[in-house]
Order: sequence, then C-alpha cells, then structure tokens
Amino acid sequence: MSSDRYIDFANSDIGRRLVGAIGLPKPVRLERWQAGRLRPVEGTLLISAGPLADHVRLFAQRLTDSLYSFGSEIPGATHWVADQGPKLKAVVFDASTFTRVDHLKQLREFFQPLLRSLDSSAHVLILGHAPASLKDPVAAATQQAIEGFSRSLAKEMRNGGTVQLLQVDNGAEEQLEGAFRFFLSPKSAFISGQVIRLRRCATEVQDWSRPLAGRKALVTGAARGIGAAIAETLARDGAEVVLLDVPQARADLEALAARLGGRALTVDICAEDAASQLIEHLPDGLDILVHNAGITRDKTLANMSADFWDSVLAVNFNAPQVLTQALVDSGTLRDNARVILMSSTTGLAGNRGQTNYAASKAGLIGLARAMAPSLHERGISINAVAPGFIETKMTAAMPFALREAGRRMSSLGQGGLPQDVAEAVAWLAQPGSGAVSGQVLRVCGQSVVGA
Ligand code: NAD
Repeated sequence: MSSDRYIDFANSDIGRRLVGAIGLPKPVRLERWQAGRLRPVEGTLLISAGPLADHVRLFAQRLTDSLYSFGSEIPGATHWVADQGPKLKAVVFDASTFTRVDHLKQLREFFQPLLRSLDSSAHVLILGHAPASLKDPVAAATQQAIEGFSRSLAKEMRNGGTVQLLQVDNGAEEQLEGAFRFFLSPKSAFISGQVIRLRRCATEVQDWSRPLAGRKALVTGAARGIGAAIAETLARDGAEVVLLDVPQARADLEALAARLGGRALTVDICAEDAASQLIEHLPDGLDILVHNAGITRDKTLANMSADFWDSVLAVNFNAPQVLTQALVDSGTLRDNARVILMSSTTGLAGNRGQTNYAASKAGLIGLARAMAPSLHERGISINAVAPGFIETKMTAAMPFALREAGRRMSSLGQGGLPQDVAEAVAWLAQPGSGAVSGQVLRVCGQSVVGA
C-alpha cells in the first residue's frame, strides 16, 4: 500500500482544485495489474501501418477487444479517425522504416491529433531499429532521433501515460507479443521514457496465463519489500520459487514461502560457503536467478568508514558476481536461464552520500553488459533492473524533504510500488525475454535523476 498521502490529497475534491490553482504537481493514481485479469489492454488499442505493425496484427486481437488501425487494414480492426474514435488506452506507432531526416515529421503528424484522445494511464509504444544495427549513417542517426522524441513525449504525457521506444532487430519480431503484453499493460505502470532493444530469441512463452510455468526461480532478499513482491509475482506467473534471505529473517521468509507454495532458504549471500549451499539446494538446476538482496550504508565519502564501504560492496556487488559465476560454472544455471540484477537509478546518476551504494549498483550494470555476450551462446540472458523511488521500508525511513523530492521529481510525479519492480523482473524472466540481454530497464516513472 502506498503511504503517499499527497496523491490521496491531489485526487480529492478540494485537493484537485487547490493543486490546479497553485500549480502543484498532479500525480494521478496509476492503474495497476490485478491478479486474474486476462487482457493486457482493457480499452482501445490503435496500431499504425508499417512492416513491424504487420507482425503485430497476428496477435493484436489477443491483446484487446477494441482494435483500431491507422493507415492500413487490419482484420477485425476499425479505421481510426482523430476526434471521432473512442479514447485510446494503448497506441503502437511503427517508425522502423524511418531512414531519412524528413521521415521524422510523421511523428508529429501522427501523434499530435491523437494526444487529446488518450485515456488515463495510456501506454504508447514506438517501434524502431537500434542505430547500431544500421549501416547507413543517416538511417542510424534518424533512428537515434526517435529516442529524443520518445523521451520528450514521455515527459509531456498526462494522466499517468507512458511512452517507450522498442528497437526491434530483424528476426526478433516473434518476441513482440511478450513485450507488448508488458509495455502496453498496467504491468509497466511506473516505467516511462525507456529504450529497449529486442534481439532474436530461440525460446518463447507457451501459455500467456502462466508464462513462467515449469521454471524454477531463486530470489535473494525475498523476506520483505521488493524481493517479497518479486517472489509473489513470479509464483503468480507459474514459477516454482525458492526464497532466500538471512537467517534473522527466517520467520517472515518461511511464512511467505509457505503462502506461495515455495521453499525458504536462509543463507547469507556473503558467507564463504554461500555458493556451495546454493548448488547443493538446487540439484535440479535453476531457470531464473534474481539478485535482489541489497543494503545501504549512507555517508559522504569524507565520513565513510571502511566497514560501511566494504559491507555495501560485498552484499550488493561482490556476492551477485561470485554467485552468478559459480552457478554458471557448476551448470546449476540451465540453458536459456534468465538472470536479473537489482541495480538502482543511483547507479546510473550517482547520489550524494551514496558513493559506496552507487559504485555497487553501477557495477551490476557493468556485470550485465560484460557477461551478456558469453552467456548468449547458451541462450542465457542477464539484465539489470534500476528502480527509482519505490515505496518500501527503506524509503519510508528517508528524511521528509528528500522523500518528497524523490517522489515528485519524475514524469509520473510519485513513487513506484514494489509490484512495479516485480512486474519488470517477471517480464525479463520469461522464456521469450531472452530477446533482451546486457541492458538496463529503469523502473522509475522517468525520474529526472540520470539518463
Ligand atoms: P529491503 O531492505 O526492504 O530488503 C532487502 C532484503 O535483502 C532484506 O530482506 C534483507 O534481509 C536481505 N538481505 C540483505 N543482506 C543480505 C545478505 N547478505 N544475504 C541475504 N539477504 C540479504 O530493501 P528493498 O527496498 O526491498 O530493496 C530491494 C533491492 O532493491 C535492493 O537491492 C535495493 O538496493 C534495490 N532498490 C531499492 C529501491 C527503493 O526505492 N526501495 C530503489 C532502488 C533500488
């Protein structure tokens, strides 16, 4: 539950008027995914014309009951006319054919007329190609330009709307459905302004109602906060979960494991024998490894003790690195496994009083990038998730002014929930999400902190 009283106030009758009159931020209550929901888009989905959009038509009717098209015929879709159609809950625009500077004006021409037709918590996806995948310099630069457009449009969205750019390699079209089910639904409520690249991936989801069925997952730091939400979400999606935390957290850990039909493992990830304990407890192997356990020991560098420095680097950075390597070397991590490292926007942007924490979280991003190429041969992906301000015990303990700044200084004007981070992890854990590797997915409401 959010303890953000300002959102409650800004959405009350009196609050709404006051906030409008004196120009305060207007965060809206974001729509979140509810267990048991079937359709990713509850409302109208509009799809533009284009070669990638042609692939989308194959599965578009599984996403929504209300499909509209623009510029092309899609079976079962109604042609959309600005100001005459219904409100739009989700929009897909294919910019993958943009190879010249003058193509970019189509962005303005397409989006301007529909901005007033967006529903609340609307999700926009722009499709393109990664500049690095294109030989022609002008085509590559044009695709880069779309990044600037999409990040800026994300900042102009109202009522909880989000915008992402999905760069789709040739051969990666098969994985569009999984990405759409995430980025066009409330599962990505707190993600905006992101650029994600999809590559070819050999494995895919069999059953969209239980995308992780038959997969075994280990989540560290799972007794509370974000880790508990991750374990819960992976179990919801069909995974068999092993929950790990320190021995002091045994009671909470065992209660949650019992509720999720999973197993509790009390291990300190920094212990000398942590790797051998994990290997021993996972004799049948592992498909999903989530390094979520993390600590903060904040001080400016001038006042930072060796103990503060060492403990943060040991838990947050060294343990995930050592354990991942050991689980790869021992063969515990199966082919097509998914590894997710819990970083932080602080690892991207830095933060006063957090030199140790930022070093550890940046190190995890480096680890994802550096390990991805060699793990690729076995179909294993490794990515970092970088949460911004998330409402947990950790952030509840922050001083009031810092906490308020952390919440409001983002395009969505509020903090995220542990569920938002958990949904991102659950998406990256899917068989088809091998299409994403060596990348960072921020879950930060497009925080002004960092890129
Ligand atoms: P939390 O403190 O509520 O939970 C962390 C869990 O990790 C605890 O249960 C703790 O016992 C466990 N843990 C710590 N050291 C361990 C060790 N040596 N071995 C095993 N388990 C250990 O924190 P949270 O807010 O849920 O954060 C989870 C992760 O997300 C952390 O890595 C954190 O850095 C990251 N993060 C959080 C936020 C936020 O706003 N809350 C933002 C960015 C990143």
